[in-house]
Amino acid sequence: MIYDIEYETLPREALEAIQLRRLRSTLERVYATVPFYRRRFDQEKVKPSDVATLQDLAKIPFTTKQDLRDNYPYGMFAVPMDNVVRIHSSSGTTGQPTVVGYTARDIDTWAALMARSLCAGGATRRDIIHNAYGYGLFTGGLGVHYGAEKLGASVIPVSGGNTKRQVMIMKDFGPTILTATPSYALQLAEVAEEIGVSFKDLKFRFGIFGAEPWSENMRTEIEAKLNLTAVDIYGLSEVMGPGVACECHEAKKGAHIFEDHFIPEIIDPKTAEILPYGAEGELVFTSITKEAFPVIRYRTRDITSLNAEPCICGRTHVRMNKVSGRTDDMLIIRGVNLFPSQIESVLMEVDGVEPHYQLVVEREGNLDVLTVMVEVNERLFSDRVRQLQELEKKLTQNIKDYFGVSAQVKLVEPKAIVRSEGKAVRVIDNRKK
Ligand SMILES: [Zn+2]
Repeated sequence: MIYDIEYETLPREALEAIQLRRLRSTLERVYATVPFYRRRFDQEKVKPSDVATLQDLAKIPFTTKQDLRDNYPYGMFAVPMDNVVRIHSSSGTTGQPTVVGYTARDIDTWAALMARSLCAGGATRRDIIHNAYGYGLFTGGLGVHYGAEKLGASVIPVSGGNTKRQVMIMKDFGPTILTATPSYALQLAEVAEEIGVSFKDLKFRFGIFGAEPWSENMRTEIEAKLNLTAVDIYGLSEVMGPGVACECHEAKKGAHIFEDHFIPEIIDPKTAEILPYGAEGELVFTSITKEAFPVIRYRTRDITSLNAEPCICGRTHVRMNKVSGRTDDMLIIRGVNLFPSQIESVLMEVDGVEPHYQLVVEREGNLDVLTVMVEVNERLFSDRVRQLQELEKKLTQNIKDYFGVSAQVKLVEPKAIVRSEGKAVRVIDNRKK
């Protein structure tokens, strides 16, 4: 089902006409109301009126996470505080947090885009949604919540944590859709198993997972363990929160970006050159309907590519492929660029390996040493030491073959790696200490 059949299936030409109109009005508005943008545009000697076509967006300067930090907390708001009805914030795990705001109309727009997303992921108004994204400053919980209500589904606002109670609720309340980070979804599966609850006996049909990069192999693993169809949802608080893009369950091949609200671009993260469809690079977004916190050419640091091929679901909006990593959690090991999700992909190809892993990087002398800690399943762990050694050898060889990097693979016992209730911690980089 398509939630907003008119806008989600617009022919390209009509869509672009809407984009241009909304873009020009957004640029005029930020120039008039946000001192940061006015200063930046003036420095670059560009005016909103210079944008006569969508291609002209290239004349406008980028906005970075640092710009948002420099204007902490409210410097980027484009409306008076009187008109702001909600404030969210990024976690600030990698530095100073950033603060975002919403007008009442922004909240409506967000709810509608989340309703579109849930629908794309297989939800209908008859579904019961178990929402295990964290509620709070993080946009995940409330984002899904408002979208579910807008759609007319029943939402269980369970939030993250208290995993055993969550399993009881899944068993007793009969939810049919699960929303969570992919790593927390796996933890739910693990705890359910521990207390003797099988996902086969639960009623889940679809899972809508996001807020961290996850590989295609992880999808296969989750679908098998949770007995549901898993789709990828994308968003970030700086651009809105979840619901910037979502996969359709029909194709499960990239998230449709809601282009009547966001203009995506892919750039070379080093040179900032705009790349064509299909090329991998950094994803950049311009919001064209947000009132309180518009972002202009915001560099997300997420690495992906765009796919403009027609989709079997009927939506005409371009799709973004799975995010392969973030420019800020890219590891450089002896000159080789590596993303945790790429390692994940290689690990998951081998039988007996669990989707729980951590990468530890250390510096010994002048050399970077990468250790890959990965859990093996119960069956294998109780096997002979010799088999474990062979598995270690095989994983080490695969990593070497794929990336040309020598890593030390350490198999650890089931459940040895610390579980997270939100975003998983995949990398421990001790080089900076
Ligand atoms: Zn589709």
